[in-house]
Amino acid sequence: MGKPLITFLLPAYNEGENINELYEQLTSETKNLCYSFEFLFIDDGSTDDTLEKIKHLTYYAENVSYVSFSRNFGKEAAMYAGLEHARGEAVIIMDTDLQHPPQLISSLIKGHEEGYHQVIAKRNRKGESRFSQFLTGSFYQMMNKWSAVNLQDGEGDFRLLSRKAVDALLKLSEGNRFSKGLYSWIGLSQATVTYENVIRNKGESKWKMSSLITYALDGMLSFNTKPLRLCCYLGLFTILISFLYILITFVSIVWNGVDVPGYFTTISAVLFLGGVQLFCLGIIGEYIGRIYNETKKRPHYIIDESNAMRADLEVRTI
Ligand code: UDP
Ligand code: MG
Repeated sequence: MGKPLITFLLPAYNEGENINELYEQLTSETKNLCYSFEFLFIDDGSTDDTLEKIKHLTYYAENVSYVSFSRNFGKEAAMYAGLEHARGEAVIIMDTDLQHPPQLISSLIKGHEEGYHQVIAKRNRKGESRFSQFLTGSFYQMMNKWSAVNLQDGEGDFRLLSRKAVDALLKLSEGNRFSKGLYSWIGLSQATVTYENVIRNKGESKWKMSSLITYALDGMLSFNTKPLRLCCYLGLFTILISFLYILITFVSIVWNGVDVPGYFTTISAVLFLGGVQLFCLGIIGEYIGRIYNETKKRPHYIIDESNAMRADLEVRTI
């Protein structure tokens, strides 16, 4: 009987400068472990030499495989493709920018051997700017307050998933994916390994402010319908306030007569109500947009080229 197989799921978008070093570090970290390994790169439509670098590895290492997208579909789609193509009895998801230290692999595998279905690498936020610490801190606070899943700061995609966890994640095939929430949603036993934050040394982060906001919105809207309820409360509150306002003004007019026509107050009431209505419409719109996207049932990604086969389509010869 051969050694059990573990898959490294490696999403890469313009990481040409990092591929070789990552591969070297991974092979040296894993060479003494009693497993066989598969290195599954997902090239997310890179415009640099990422794909060439990966292909070059496949020439002399037969356990390197890749899926290359026709354009940039985002890390969530890349991870989904990776889960679909992974053949291992466990899958380790890792960034390809060396921010996820390969030295943790043996601890992750140890957790797997102890029977945990998710072994999570949790980082502290050392070296990050105060502002980004504040932003992420408030995001997690809000997320946990407002949604049905519980997320922990510092726990990202860097983790080992058992086959059972991978199959569970594959069953959740929604288009607007928010993996951090999905990991929590599927449940199953979890263990945590902590590590120091690593600053990216080559290439640059692909997160822009706008994509961070979309990500936060996806996170909040994918896991609950509370914002819709917030709309109702806000609407009710405004109706109450304006009702009081009308009552008071009416009584004062009956008592004192009209003095100055209430131009300012009228305008402010209209503006206020208009604002609330727009706000509520916006929230509803966000949900409708998501429903619209889901009804299209588009694939998560389009493959341009690949040397890997989807795990569920493979003819198993055991
Ligand atoms: N990534 C990807 N597709 C994208 C953006 C990022 O596959 O559209 C990959 C990227 O190559 C890296 C990982 O996702 O391996 C994390 O990206 P990044 O380092 O930009 O995020 P950060 O570490 O800043 O959160
Ligand atoms: Mg990074």
